[in-house]
Amino acid sequence: MSANNGEQMLNTAKEIIGSTCQSLGIEQDVIDRIIEPDSIHEVTLDLERDNGRITPIKAFRIQHNNLLGPYKGGIRFHETVNRSEVQALATLMSIKTAVVNLPFGGGKGGVVINPKTLSQGELRRLSQNYVAKLANVIGEDIDVPAPDVNTNPTIMKWMLAEYEKIIGRKSPATFTGKPVTNGGSLGRMEATGRGGVFVLQELLKRLNGGNQSKMTIAVQGFGNVGYYFALIASQLGHRIIAISDSKGAILVENDNDSFDLNAVQNCKKELATVTQCYCVNGVCDSKRGKKISNEDLLELPVDILVPAALENVINTENMSKIKAKIIIEMANGPVSAKANEYLKRNGVLIVPDVLANAGGVIVSYLEWVQGKQRYWWTEEKVNLELEKIIVAAFSDVWTHGKEKNISLTESAFQVAVQRIVAAL
Ligand code: GLU
Repeated sequence: MSANNGEQMLNTAKEIIGSTCQSLGIEQDVIDRIIEPDSIHEVTLDLERDNGRITPIKAFRIQHNNLLGPYKGGIRFHETVNRSEVQALATLMSIKTAVVNLPFGGGKGGVVINPKTLSQGELRRLSQNYVAKLANVIGEDIDVPAPDVNTNPTIMKWMLAEYEKIIGRKSPATFTGKPVTNGGSLGRMEATGRGGVFVLQELLKRLNGGNQSKMTIAVQGFGNVGYYFALIASQLGHRIIAISDSKGAILVENDNDSFDLNAVQNCKKELATVTQCYCVNGVCDSKRGKKISNEDLLELPVDILVPAALENVINTENMSKIKAKIIIEMANGPVSAKANEYLKRNGVLIVPDVLANAGGVIVSYLEWVQGKQRYWWTEEKVNLELEKIIVAAFSDVWTHGKEKNISLTESAFQVAVQRIVAAL
C-alpha cells in the first residue's frame, strides 16, 4: 500500500472511531485519547546480506492501545509498508480485540521489504534483527506479535528464539502463530477461515430463522484465509462457485457444482495458480471452468461474496456492480468507506472485518493462554473455545445493532469503543 493509501486508511480508521464516539456521546478529550496511539517505534534494521554487506531497512512496531491487555497484532513484511498504514492497522487491532472481548489491546508491526527478494538466510537474519531492535518493547505481558501479510509460523519461530536468547529464559507466549512443534496451537492455521464460517452460520440463523440454507459463495483470494473459509464452508454444504488468486479467477460451469477445495489446494501446489485447477468431485481438469478476472468475481450474482485478499477491492469504481446481498469481510479493509455507505443504502449486509476475520487473533489468544500455562489443548478444545468466543461476539454485535437500528459495522465499532472507554 502506498504512503498515500496508508494515510487514507489511517484517516478512515480515525474518522470511524471519531464518529462512533460521537454517536455514543463521548467527550472530545476522551475521543482524542482513544484515537492516538500510545507509542510509535520506528527503527532501522541491519539486513545482513549473504555477501556480508549490510542493507538498512525501515521497520515499525506501533502500539495503539493497551487498556484491555497487552498490545496484540501481526507483523507484515511488504515493500509498500509505511507508518500510516501500520498505525491504521494497529488502531483496527484495538477495535478487533475489543469486539471479540479478548484481554488484549491493539498493535501492529511492519518491515519495508519484499521477502520474495531475500534468501532464506537473509529472511531469518532480518526477522532476528527486528526482534533485536524491538526486544525492550515486546513481551508476553507487554506486546505479543503474530504473523500477518507475508509472515508465517517459521518467522515466528525465529523471532521467538531470538527474543528468548536476548532475555535469557523461555517465554513462548511472547509470539503467537508459531509452528505447533514450537509451542504453537493446534487449529491456529485454520482459525481465521473457521471463525469466518462460524460468523456466516450465525448470520444465516438470524436471517432465516434457524433454517440453515445452502448458499452460493464466491471467494476472492486463495491464501490461508480464503482457502480455509472456502473449505470449511463447503464441508457444511455451501457451494463455492468461484475462487481466485493473484493470477485470476475461475468459475464453475454449472451452478449446481462446487469446487472441491482439497483437490484445488493440491493442484495449486503443482501448477502455482487456482486458475488452472477446475476441480469438482475430486477430479481436476486444467482446461475446464470459466476463467474470469478478479474484478469479475466480485460482480458475480452469488448469495455471498467473500473478499479474502487485499484492502479496498470494493470501492467507488465497482460498488454499483456488486450483486451479492451479503459480504463477509475476511481481508482487512476490503470495502472502502464510501462503498460501505453505498452498499448499506442498497440493502447489502456487510459483516465487518473486525468481527468476521477475528478468528485468527482469537486462536492467538488461546495459544497465548496455552503458552503461559505450558499446557497444550486438543484441536477439538481449541475449535470449541474459538466457536464460543466468536459466536458470543457475533451475538453482542447483532443484538446491539438491532437495538440501535444500525449496521453491523457501526454496531461492532460501538461495542468495541464502549469496552475500551469503560476501561479508561
Ligand atoms: N494478523 C492477524 C490479524 O490481522 C492476526 C493477529 C494476531 O493473531 O495477533 O488479525
